[in-house]
Amino acid sequence: MGREISPAVAQLRPIVGGKSPQEKLVSDSTVLRVSTALQASLHVKDVVHAFANEVRRIVRDVSVRYQNRSREILVQDGTNQINRCSYKLTLLGESLGELVFTRAKSLSDDDQKLLEVLLCALIYPLRNALLYEQALTQALKDPLTGVNNRASMDAYLKHEILVSERHKNAMSLIMLDIDLFKSINDTFGHVVGDVVLRAVANTIVKCTRDSDVVFRYGGEEFVVILTNTEGAGADFLAERIRQSVAALDIDVLANHTSITVSAGVAQFRPGDSPISLLSRADSRLYAAKKLGRNRVETCAN
Ligand code: GH3
Ligand code: MG
Ligand code: MG
Repeated sequence: MGREISPAVAQLRPIVGGKSPQEKLVSDSTVLRVSTALQASLHVKDVVHAFANEVRRIVRDVSVRYQNRSREILVQDGTNQINRCSYKLTLLGESLGELVFTRAKSLSDDDQKLLEVLLCALIYPLRNALLYEQALTQALKDPLTGVNNRASMDAYLKHEILVSERHKNAMSLIMLDIDLFKSINDTFGHVVGDVVLRAVANTIVKCTRDSDVVFRYGGEEFVVILTNTEGAGADFLAERIRQSVAALDIDVLANHTSITVSAGVAQFRPGDSPISLLSRADSRLYAAKKLGRNRVETCAN
């Protein structure tokens, strides 16, 4: 288990007028330089990499690994080495994650003191970056399902249309809607309805590639935007999602009913606006519902 470090530790540590050459190296100007480097970005990854670079100027050949389990963040700078020294980072009782230094050559007591002084310079920039990324996530993600929200889709689609228009790239869009979802809520209650929504969202995400982006468009409607993908590719993905959702085994429904989705697919055409592209997908989704649900109306139709 690592030692705990917070700014209070720095105040307690005698870093001025220390006896070892390393301690003398941590002058006010060094601390200022490190602090300045750590304020160049509000992204956790950038802050940790900047920190690792600064650390190596003072304690050579050190690798740095930062992990925040509750936020699912892992940043590795350099390869893990055999000698390690780890710290739990806290600020006012709040955990900011764990930071591990490793090195092939062992880390002396003086090295560790230096690392602890440097860690104290990391804490506030790291806390700010964590808060910033949390605010970004809250603004762009749907809290129930974890996929991107409607506001984020509006901005993303506008941008993707501009890029496709300019570079003559293919781009497609799938609109999905859970079939007869109201009856799930009515029969099993909203809590179970929410479980189903999350399961469907997870299934859509699992079916897609990293370059496909999934959004919750409305209550039980989802949109997938596929960059650099012709309509045929989107038709294929929509069908794969349909089958995967139909095959879902959701505990809370206890075999009483199966969940299905209907989908409409549209391919970008030059001159399309977000509204015209979404409307084409929506019309096909409507057709899929009319034709009996649990089906995909493809671009080819
Ligand atoms: P169709 O096959 O025609 O799409 O029928 P449907 O019942 O799915 O469509 P309808 O639009 O009538 O119902 C959608 C339902 O989705 C109604 C609404 O209460 C429910 N819903 C929307 N958002 C949420 C949510 O966040 N959680 C839960 N549990 N239900 C939601
Ligand atoms: Mg709907
Ligand atoms: Mg529905």
